[in-house]
Amino acid sequence: MSRYIATRAIRGANLIVAEAEAMLRKAIEELGADTPVTFPNTAYYLPVIFGFTGREVTKLGDLVPVIEQAKEILHPVPGKELWLPYLGQTLDCGVATLWAEEAIEGIRFARGLEPQEITWDGSYVPSSSFTSPDAEDQVGRHLNGPIDDIQLRSWGIQLVDGRMPGFAAIIGAARSNEAAVQIIRELQQRNILIFLSGNVNGRSIIHQLMEEGVEMGYDTYIVPFGTDTISAIYAAGFATRAALTFGGMKGGQARGMLLYNKFRCFAFAIALGEVDDLKFATAAGVLNYGFPVIADTVIPQILPTGLTMYEHVVSMPFDDIEGKDDAEKARRLVQRAIEVRGVKIKITEVPIPVPYGSAFEGERVRRAEMRVEFGGKYSRCFEYLTTSDFDAVEDGKIEIVGPDFEDVEEAGHMDMGIVVEVAGRKMQDDFEPVLERQIHYFVNGASGIQHIGQRDIAWIRLSKAAAEKGFNLKHFGEILYARFHADFGAIVDKVQVTIYTDPEEMKEWLAKARKAYDYRNRRLADMTDDSVEEFYSCTLCQSFAPNHVCIVSPERLGLCGAYNWLDCKASHQINPTGPNQPIKKGACEDPSYGVFSGVNDFVRQASHQTVERVSMYSIMLDPMTACGCFECIAMIIPEANGVMVVSREDPSMTPTGMTFSTLAGMAGGGLQTPGVMGHGKYYLTSKKFMTSDGGFKRVVWMSSFLKETMAEELKAVAEREGDPDLLDKIADERVSTTVEELLPFLEEKGHPALTLPPMF
Ligand code: SF4
Ligand code: ZN
Repeated sequence: MSRYIATRAIRGANLIVAEAEAMLRKAIEELGADTPVTFPNTAYYLPVIFGFTGREVTKLGDLVPVIEQAKEILHPVPGKELWLPYLGQTLDCGVATLWAEEAIEGIRFARGLEPQEITWDGSYVPSSSFTSPDAEDQVGRHLNGPIDDIQLRSWGIQLVDGRMPGFAAIIGAARSNEAAVQIIRELQQRNILIFLSGNVNGRSIIHQLMEEGVEMGYDTYIVPFGTDTISAIYAAGFATRAALTFGGMKGGQARGMLLYNKFRCFAFAIALGEVDDLKFATAAGVLNYGFPVIADTVIPQILPTGLTMYEHVVSMPFDDIEGKDDAEKARRLVQRAIEVRGVKIKITEVPIPVPYGSAFEGERVRRAEMRVEFGGKYSRCFEYLTTSDFDAVEDGKIEIVGPDFEDVEEAGHMDMGIVVEVAGRKMQDDFEPVLERQIHYFVNGASGIQHIGQRDIAWIRLSKAAAEKGFNLKHFGEILYARFHADFGAIVDKVQVTIYTDPEEMKEWLAKARKAYDYRNRRLADMTDDSVEEFYSCTLCQSFAPNHVCIVSPERLGLCGAYNWLDCKASHQINPTGPNQPIKKGACEDPSYGVFSGVNDFVRQASHQTVERVSMYSIMLDPMTACGCFECIAMIIPEANGVMVVSREDPSMTPTGMTFSTLAGMAGGGLQTPGVMGHGKYYLTSKKFMTSDGGFKRVVWMSSFLKETMAEELKAVAEREGDPDLLDKIADERVSTTVEELLPFLEEKGHPALTLPPMF
């Protein structure tokens, strides 16, 4: 342990704890001890403090014992000859630092200072609103502030299935804008989530990225927490909540939480530029999570392994890194950071002239920056994947039939059809829609390309920047070829892509494609829980929720909405020992509750004996467990003799007195809670939706988001249920957010749930 680092970290810790204490005293004097302290949209209080101590801070007064405890674990700054600190003392001080930093943020919230002092809509921040943090306002200018629970969970599934390996917390400012952009691109190409904070002499990597026009926000996996060091606390808050949410930990289980992060969460910190005492102290805090710190300046290293998987603190002075330019040096810095964290990350090389990675999936191409679009309002675009005879497919062949877009006017449009022909010994016709749906993700991964929709309503936009870099139609083929081989190599041996822009050919293939879409629709409708012998398991989320298992049947998709029965079947082919295993239904013990002996046997074993029985179609009796990724939560409202369904997108209060994020804490974690159930959106339209409890007619309240985005499908359900006006009888957050408001509405509309038998 370097004495130098210890001294500086301990000094930083003592200072920040003292500052927090002073701020708290002042705040209590001015505002009173009962003033509420909350971070927005989280059920985990001040998560770092909650995770370490189990304390549920809700008001200023609750912070007093936190600061007291922080002072207790502080160590005095080592005197010259007195004693040599060892790592333990530095780590303790690091924890105290994190509590103090989170307390300071909590106090800011109590004072009504939103982190978004400037409006942050995830896409644009006027640079004029940045000023360098002055001495008095050490807290600086916040941008995103804490990540809310909803966003945490929606990243959950990607963190689980490995698409998103983890996160990098970057603090400070890069040597040059070029280096800043390159560091971000390197991380994005590996789909590593990026958290930004801190500054060096007032200048932050956030400024650098803004100057370079890098789009920041949840969609591009770049979250700017704030331009001060303290806002790095939100990265620790994220890690803590991941352990609480997905690892099923409770507040106060500090050891479990830290171990969870060390082994399950691939994360590291990069300190860019000069490291001051507070940064050292904060770094000592994150070391507790097992996250190593890599600095681009000269600092003493802490190399022995133990707490982190490999090295603790690594210095890689930027000037000493070999490489001609800053971009190359930045590349090596990220490379080293990943080595230090010790995880192999697979990147699929896609030979196109723009950066590629799923971090670009959320990128938008606005009309003003658009070179050309295919589909949308003015033209048509379709995509079709089909199985062909082995000999008819020439692997790697990419053909453009018709003109490319160079003659299309700027910001113009053009018809296009993408036809992917695959062949493989394990390929089945049933997998075609599964594979075809991937085109959306694959194409979207290219920087400067936006893909929306599927089938014959696909809509692709290509940016001017991408066109200038040389992106042309052939590159769509390159992307699809590379990705289908990389991701589905177990079932496809040969891939051939043809892009049609020629009007005649396009028409012909569109007709073929439509015939196939139609056939698939009918085939899917024929597939019911009764018509198949096997359901599938999904245990992908066990890396987060160790005892959770989703049972996926043709009529009940996985609760995250990402895996239906066909997806699981295909996934099983790709990876026979993977998370999707066939489950023989066995004897049906109760068709209305959906109780199957084979399912029970499987769940018992896969949940490590924590769940004995599952009713596939019931919310009241042995409901299916949930990990945390659910698109919706259904919960009974006893007074209304029905259930409400709230969607992840809906931040409003519900008649149960809880918001989605609060409810998520009850529904998740792999436990069975009768009366509460997480589920996929499309389960609402299933004939097997809560059949034992009365089906869709039990729904008395539903987020307007669901009503609107699924209007067509839900209308069909209402008709199927013999009550075409049913949707109008279902309340939403615009009508009622309390039971008192809900009941008269249901009475007035004559909602059928009121006359159904009691739910208990
Ligand atoms: Fe997780 Fe269930 Fe989705 Fe599988 S289906 S990824 S277990 S939520
Ligand atoms: Zn999950």
